[in-house]
Amino acid sequence: MSTPRAIERLRDAFPARCTPDAPLAALSTWRIGGPAALLFTPESEAELAAGLALLRAEDAAWWLVGGGSNLLFPDEGLAGVVLHPGQGLAWLEVEAPLLRAGAATSAVVLCRRAAQAGLAGLEFAGGIPGTVGGMVRMNAGAHGQELAQSLVRVRLLDPAGTIGWVDAAELRLEYRGSPGLGARLVLAAEFRLAADDPDAIKARLRELLERRRASQPLQEASCGSVFKRPADDFPGRLIEAAGLKGARVGAAVVSQVHANFFVNEGGASAADMLALVELVKRTVRERFSVELEEEFQHVR
Ligand SMILES: Cc1cc2nc3c(=O)[nH]c(=O)nc-3n(C[C@H](O)[C@H](O)[C@H](O)COP(=O)(O)OP(=O)(O)OC[C@H]3O[C@@H](n4cnc5c(N)ncnc54)[C@H](O)[C@@H]3O)c2cc1C
Repeated sequence: MSTPRAIERLRDAFPARCTPDAPLAALSTWRIGGPAALLFTPESEAELAAGLALLRAEDAAWWLVGGGSNLLFPDEGLAGVVLHPGQGLAWLEVEAPLLRAGAATSAVVLCRRAAQAGLAGLEFAGGIPGTVGGMVRMNAGAHGQELAQSLVRVRLLDPAGTIGWVDAAELRLEYRGSPGLGARLVLAAEFRLAADDPDAIKARLRELLERRRASQPLQEASCGSVFKRPADDFPGRLIEAAGLKGARVGAAVVSQVHANFFVNEGGASAADMLALVELVKRTVRERFSVELEEEFQHVR
């Protein structure tokens, strides 16, 4: 494996898209993480495919990061390349009742444009700080709905460098997962939505956002829900019932607003956050015999 050679070749081929020693904390809604040896921000499908081909040819270490809203990066950083699709991959195309969006499109923009176009079905995603690529990968959901309900096709880049649209069924979307995606990268997604009055859609978006604001610590650095829902229960209820609201390790704290949100009060390390996660898992296991499973991904 030659990660240093891959970094050198990427910097030669795409000098304007490469940032050495890039702080990962800036890419993470948890604001945690040391530097990545190289941040590569492709601005087109062709650049992403060429960069990936180069990384694979060198058998280099690389990671794919969208909005960084579901990831915990290591304190020591990453000795490799972080691929971060740039704004050139944030595009939207309306062909009612279909809506197509590039991987880097933010959920905020996606929901706003759908509402303006009078297309309903994505209101649940308003307020999710992710991008289309990460939302497809995670099958993002809220308020009893999820992406899988309106996703019809995805545009993928496979390890061999082939690009094409495939049926969403191939991803086998499940609760916060897409086991059928495998090693493929999402370049874009196509949603089939329902025609509705734009003002009615905007009103629903506003109402769901209000519910979020009232129940989640949106002003603080977090990754959203730390744990997945166990069968027949809610992690927030279990954590609160275990008396863990406000529990802390360093600057990593179980939110007083929502116990399944762990916030970085400022300067928390990944080690602090992981220790808090372990403390909560252990306590909930001892008190309720429930094994909580992380929803966020620990990048290593
Ligand atoms: C305040 C807050 C509220 C949240 N609320 C919700 C919620 O209501 N519902 C919910 O489901 N989640 C929620 N989340 C979690 C998070 O926003 C979602 O998981 C989101 O889908 C992650 O998208 P992202 O672009 O940030 O992905 P990232 O965090 O960057 O990455 C997540 C995973 O997706 C992969 N990935 C990213 N881009 C691509 C791509 N183009 N192709 C293939 N794989 C890719 C990454 O490699 C990684 O494995 C919340 C988070 C926060 C901070």
